[in-house]
Amino acid sequence: MAADDPALADFPERAPGTRRWCFADQLGPHFLDDPHQEVLLVESRAVFRRRRFHRQKAHLLLSALRHRAAELGDQARFLQTTTYAEALDAVDEPVSVCAPTTWPARDFVLARDGVQVLASRGFVTDEQTFRRWATGRGTDGGKRLLMDDFYRAARQHHDVLMEGSEPTGGKYNFDHDNREPPPKDGASPAPEPWIPAEDEIDEQVRADLDRWEADGDVSFVGDDGPRLFPVTRRETLHRLRDFLAHRLAAFGPHEDAMLADEPWLAHSLLSAPMNLGLVDPAEVVQRAEQAYRDEGLPLNSVEGFVRQVMGWRDYIWHLYWHLGREYRHGNALDAHAEVPAWMAELDTADLDAACLSGVVGDLRSRGWVHHIPRLMVLGNYALQRGIEPLAMTDWMHRTFVDAYDWVMVPNVVGMSQHADGGVLATKPYAAGGAYIDRMSDYCGGCRYDPKKRLGEDACPFTAGYWGFLDRVEDTLAGNRRMAQPLAGLRRLKDREAVVEQEQQRGTDPY
Ligand SMILES: Cc1cc2nc3c(=O)[nH]c(=O)nc-3n(C[C@H](O)[C@H](O)[C@H](O)COP(=O)(O)OP(=O)(O)OC[C@H]3O[C@@H](n4cnc5c(N)ncnc54)[C@H](O)[C@@H]3O)c2cc1C
Ligand code: SF4
Repeated sequence: MAADDPALADFPERAPGTRRWCFADQLGPHFLDDPHQEVLLVESRAVFRRRRFHRQKAHLLLSALRHRAAELGDQARFLQTTTYAEALDAVDEPVSVCAPTTWPARDFVLARDGVQVLASRGFVTDEQTFRRWATGRGTDGGKRLLMDDFYRAARQHHDVLMEGSEPTGGKYNFDHDNREPPPKDGASPAPEPWIPAEDEIDEQVRADLDRWEADGDVSFVGDDGPRLFPVTRRETLHRLRDFLAHRLAAFGPHEDAMLADEPWLAHSLLSAPMNLGLVDPAEVVQRAEQAYRDEGLPLNSVEGFVRQVMGWRDYIWHLYWHLGREYRHGNALDAHAEVPAWMAELDTADLDAACLSGVVGDLRSRGWVHHIPRLMVLGNYALQRGIEPLAMTDWMHRTFVDAYDWVMVPNVVGMSQHADGGVLATKPYAAGGAYIDRMSDYCGGCRYDPKKRLGEDACPFTAGYWGFLDRVEDTLAGNRRMAQPLAGLRRLKDREAVVEQEQQRGTDPY
């Protein structure tokens, strides 16, 4: 069981007198014990050789690491090596490291003599506090491990948006004021986000990536393009301030909406810099609460955003560890299709489905789409078409600029593909074209019809939904939340024809 795993020990908090090794996702000042602590930074090219990443993701990681090295100057030893082991061999002084963010990286640092492992940082709730909360919960008879319960406990524990023992505004969740469809005029509800300017470090990163690619050393997917996400704490705070001042007010109502020409809507675009460790999420939450109290921003938006950061982000992080090493291999719905080539290559040339084509195209040009395209277009597609959850996790990990193992495994295996049999979500996030039609402006310009399930113009999501239910009918028969959809399936007069049509379509581009 995960609790006995050495990777989950109660590590000490600090290690005075040591050089702090900061991984490339531990780049903010909160990973140091004091502002003057000596630092070790390692750029390992093997990471890019092993897997085919989005070009902009590779750029972001290298740029962030090199910016941190430049910022720290003589305070840091910056080693550019092929592997981490090679870098550590070159260091002959005591090194400490905050527990890294993946199982293999924790195993690696724990096995290294001369490296002291400390408690992890970079999340609002620490691992020990989560463990205390989670003890006795789970699928084995105790209370469920629900995000909402964790979030309430965290709000109380950290005294965020609380008035004494009561939640601000009288309740913990204002979602009934959110989840609106997109604005009818197709315009974004918020102004454009602040985008950082590239500098000479970015230029050098671009030249290195071009050279490595030309040498056949590494290969990437996706377009190169101007850097869109912060790589320093300074840039991150700029984006955060801009979000709080101009965009957060519109965040709540349109959180779930999609617009073909407005990819950012009112989202914060903070996942990439938070996951690089450039800012402490507790500070993000505190500044959002301050903006509510000082500026009178709408509570439904502020609470919605705070829930994403100290609720969902933390919950996903803790579940990655709590659910153990084998969790990633879950495949409760027995899905074995490969990630199709058009998806792997982000190739939209043969895609007629406007939603898929738009989302995959956005991903190719930016390495980012917000949570509804991830969950209800890409994830929904993979779920309906039976793509293997681990293959989907790997593809998303390599393709999204903000993706890391800890965040992709629970989000894909659990939340989006229901491959854990219902630990994270009580029912699969499968939906037909009607959902996409309600929450986006894609369907108007599509050659398919979201209301049709059979024939030339049958919407692949509407028909795919029934094909999915047909495939998982027996497995999900005992799930009470699936009783109604499955009853609907049994009433379908054209069930056989729809299922056959979708089996023929498979994962071909449409
Ligand atoms: C299938 C799937 C895959 C995802 N993969 C990633 C990923 O690789 N990396 C990642 O950071 N997020 C991931 N998410 C969560 C979410 O989609 C992104 O955090 C969000 O879209 C990033 O954009 P933003 O910063 O503008 O977020 P906002 O919409 O502004 O939300 C604010 C913050 O909340 C946090 N957050 C919200 N939901 C989640 C969640 N489910 N898991 C973790 N953090 C969350 C993020 O830090 C985000 O920056 C995934 C969600 C799904 C459904
Ligand atoms: S009709 Fe179907 S395929 Fe086309 S955009 Fe709408 S949901 Fe997507």
